[in-house]
Amino acid sequence: MYDDVSPSLAREISCGVLTIDLDALARNYRALRARLEGGATGAVVKADAYGLGAQRVAPVLYDAGCRDFFVAHLGEALKLRPVLGHDARLFVLNGLLPGAEGLCADAGIVPVLNSLEQAANWAATARERGRELPAVLQFDTGMSRLGLSGGEAQALAADPALLAGVRLAYLMSHLACADEPGNPQNADQLAVLHRCAALFPDVPLCFANSGGIFLGADYHGALARPGIALYGGVPAPGADNPLSPVVRLDVRVIQTRTVPAGARVGYGGTHITAGETRLATIAAGYADGIFRHLSNRGAVYFGGVRLPIAGRVSMDSITVDISALPPGTLRLGSLVEVIGPHQTLEDIAGAAGTISYEILTSLGRRYHRDYPRAGTATEENRGTA
Ligand SMILES: *Cc1c(COP(=O)(O)O)cnc(C)c1O
Repeated sequence: MYDDVSPSLAREISCGVLTIDLDALARNYRALRARLEGGATGAVVKADAYGLGAQRVAPVLYDAGCRDFFVAHLGEALKLRPVLGHDARLFVLNGLLPGAEGLCADAGIVPVLNSLEQAANWAATARERGRELPAVLQFDTGMSRLGLSGGEAQALAADPALLAGVRLAYLMSHLACADEPGNPQNADQLAVLHRCAALFPDVPLCFANSGGIFLGADYHGALARPGIALYGGVPAPGADNPLSPVVRLDVRVIQTRTVPAGARVGYGGTHITAGETRLATIAAGYADGIFRHLSNRGAVYFGGVRLPIAGRVSMDSITVDISALPPGTLRLGSLVEVIGPHQTLEDIAGAAGTISYEILTSLGRRYHRDYPRAGTATEENRGTA
């Protein structure tokens, strides 16, 4: 965090500690791969690996055997290229904006072609460069977000000149409801994908996100693209979750006090104490991913004891009721659990009225980050980086 301060001091004086368990991350990668029964899986590391630090996360996945990395933007791929082995493939899910093709081609990054215009631009770049360029072709199978419509897919397949110079590495699409195994839209999208894919014979499929992996072998294709499951999110609610938590968040106590009955707590005075109450103010707020929606409803934990949030979440702090703890338990600098064994990522997301993805990507940059990793140095493929 501060270049001129030792890591241990930086940790001690930080507002909180975000622990990202790199061994759990590698374990989750292997657990997902095992689910695919021979199919391969890449990793989605967009948005700074869901906020966890793509520069730290992607090399660990590479060491665990991952060779296919998906980001949203070309800029994200360009930043990751130098930290991955030369045999890693980087894919740009959002496709390229006009003018980005040369940069993408020169860096050896693979774009997803989401429209006929992007396909034409990429083919033109291949002709200019005088060499074949790889691409992934995406179909819109029912999400109306990105990708070719069925009609556009037919038009492209009918005129091979349109893709001259482009080698299709994968055909892809994205599931809108993969976290709802019973939703009939999943099977609908699968059927549309197969109809589109029949127009481009012998190109392998890339379809399943985290939830898709748990929908069964029909959805696996040749290459899966999990994100949230790698980071310890639950891919499908209700399903038994074979993945390990990756993230733990502990935040510092910065003040404790005892207030009488009738005291108002926080902005707007929205919490009024019923009786004498012991309070602690802790050093993270909505600027640090503690959603304001948690005002008067969320909680933090200490030693398994629930400490409810009293009043509104501020930008840099929240106040919690610590009356359930013996007096003197918490003091200046104590750490309380925000995400951990007593409150999972899904728990806090549920209380905040959102999803684990939004919690992770909102954690911000103010916490001290610990990236523990125990003896994985003998991991497969270590030598190829
Ligand atoms: C974000 C994203 C993924 C990863 O989804 P998870 O639900 O996090 O596994 C896969 N594919 C596309 C196109 C995405 O945008």
